[in-house]
Amino acid sequence: MKNTLILGGGIGGIVASNILKNVAGDSMQVTVVDRELNHHFAASYPLLMIGQRKPADITRKLTNLKKKNIHVLHQEVQKIDLTGHQVSTNQGVLPFDYLIISLGVEYHTETVPGFTEYALNAYDFDGVRKINQQLNNFSSGRIVFFISSLPYKCPSAPYEIMFLLDQFFRKRGIQNKIELTLVTPDYSPEPLAKPKVGQSVRKMLAEKGIKLITEAKVLRIEEKALILDHDTKIAADLLLGIAPHWTPEVLRKSNLVDSSGFVQVDLHTLETNYPTIYAIGDAAAVKLPVMGAYAPKAGAFAHYQADVVARNIYLLSRGAKPEYTYKGKGT
Ligand SMILES: Cc1cc2nc3c(=O)[nH]c(=O)nc-3n(C[C@H](O)[C@H](O)[C@H](O)COP(=O)(O)OP(=O)(O)OC[C@H]3O[C@@H](n4cnc5c(N)ncnc54)[C@H](O)[C@@H]3O)c2cc1C
Repeated sequence: MKNTLILGGGIGGIVASNILKNVAGDSMQVTVVDRELNHHFAASYPLLMIGQRKPADITRKLTNLKKKNIHVLHQEVQKIDLTGHQVSTNQGVLPFDYLIISLGVEYHTETVPGFTEYALNAYDFDGVRKINQQLNNFSSGRIVFFISSLPYKCPSAPYEIMFLLDQFFRKRGIQNKIELTLVTPDYSPEPLAKPKVGQSVRKMLAEKGIKLITEAKVLRIEEKALILDHDTKIAADLLLGIAPHWTPEVLRKSNLVDSSGFVQVDLHTLETNYPTIYAIGDAAAVKLPVMGAYAPKAGAFAHYQADVVARNIYLLSRGAKPEYTYKGKGT
């Protein structure tokens, strides 16, 4: 029996383990390692923020995967031996025939002065719960939502959040007392989509009276103010932000990352420079052939990447040629 180790039980890891177990059955031992006991479904954080979801609605135990005969280990990944084919965790050493890395990103709020003291992290489960409490008591004033730096996952989420905030205050009949501003380093909403997407989003924001500041470089956060390049000061009563995204330390310490800081992979197979070791999801640097840019990071992309990798691993384990290729599919 061959053995596939999956690092990370987030979107990519969960989907990869399910698909691999479905196609390979008892011919493959599938193990998911995660330092958390639960998976929180981040795509529902915007709804959690405005109270349309409860924490329990979007939380599942990773041990649920055991029902499908997938092994689940609650351990912290500390080192990957790329040539010796084993992973060290805080509880021991795990050998593998195939490795799928889906460790996502870490948030580095400390790299933006004042973030921890004066802003709430809108991309973090605990941060989102705090935002929900603050919104329930917010009856007038300025809310500024800022994106600290590129890349950040789910490029559409900040816009979705702004529209939901608008809806939240409209339902309470106090939208006229609230000023919403979105600050982004991008030159346009959704810059990798066709221009008409960005134009439509701009129009929708304008229709709802939501201000958009583009090409912004966040320097620091002060009490009730966001400070941009050129010392531009954006006053705020509530600051919500997206912290800089870094790959997890275990990957940064390895030979896997490219100059972007993310794991270098083949665009079509998601294989790293090391045979039978793959990286998918937010941790992967999927470089687009046309623009030289990196593909956006989102759960939908992680899902389809997981599908390709899981099916190819099964074929390889049977001595067959891998035939699935990732085509940038997402929804
Ligand atoms: C507010 C918000 C809204 C979003 N909305 C959408 C949306 O509508 N559509 C969409 O497609 N995407 C959306 N996303 C993005 C989506 O959630 C991510 O792109 C997706 O989760 C990436 O999957 P992943 O497997 O790469 O990483 P993750 O799902 O983040 O999983 C990584 C896992 O690795 C574990 N881990 C990390 N380091 C270690 C370690 N050293 N040892 C052990 N375990 C470790 C973590 O605990 C985690 O469980 C949204 C994200 C946010 C924050």
